[in-house]
Amino acid sequence: MNEIEQRLGNINSQIRRAEIEAGRDKGCVQLLAVSKTKPVADIAAAYHLGQRHFGESYVQEALRKQPALTANNITWHFIGPIQSNKTKAIATNFSWVHSVDRLKIAKRLSEQRPENLPALNICLQINISGEETKSGVLLNELPQLIEEIINLPNIQLRGVMAIPELQTDYEMQRKPYQQLFQAVRQLNRPELDTFSFGMSGDLKAAIAEGSTIVRIGTALFGARSYPKSS
Ligand SMILES: *Cc1c(COP(=O)(O)O)cnc(C)c1O
Repeated sequence: MNEIEQRLGNINSQIRRAEIEAGRDKGCVQLLAVSKTKPVADIAAAYHLGQRHFGESYVQEALRKQPALTANNITWHFIGPIQSNKTKAIATNFSWVHSVDRLKIAKRLSEQRPENLPALNICLQINISGEETKSGVLLNELPQLIEEIINLPNIQLRGVMAIPELQTDYEMQRKPYQQLFQAVRQLNRPELDTFSFGMSGDLKAAIAEGSTIVRIGTALFGARSYPKSS
């Protein structure tokens, strides 16, 4: 068994175990394999082991790697910071975007989504208190932003994404996710069914608090040699 096979098996069992411990339905949490900075060969290896969803954070890098993988039935997720001059490439080459943080970007993605493709799935990146990155929508701005983007034609608002400040304590890891999950639930919008919560270091806490997609890089592909989100 190679390293990726071992790690993928390990992560999938951690996810299934966390689902059970949280009393959630089996299989309700999807693994997004975060392949930024990693070669095409690593993506192909995970793909051949059954992994279908992959996340990238840098547009140029993703566009370089995707053509070598078109024979595979991969669902691509964009999870990095979005500059407006990159929205067209994102709208054209991804099925999901987790990191939408303003109206202007949502509008451009909707306008630039090719007509022959299904609506682009969108999550709003939320800046929950204490978050290490400053990008993201503030919780008190969320209801209005949702109103503004919910009817854009070529994107489908699916939910929220968060990158909380790094915590080692399990209870501390749960708090920001719990707060955000409850805030979204209170909006009473059943179409917001996606909670992109959890990375290599806090997967269990995220699943306990309602995650439906965990974004895992390091624990699957090993350490990266350049920063994780910029
Ligand atoms: C890099 C990245 C991840 C993966 O982080 P790991 O700690 O390596 O699992 C998840 N989400 C986002 C937004 C990232 O940029």
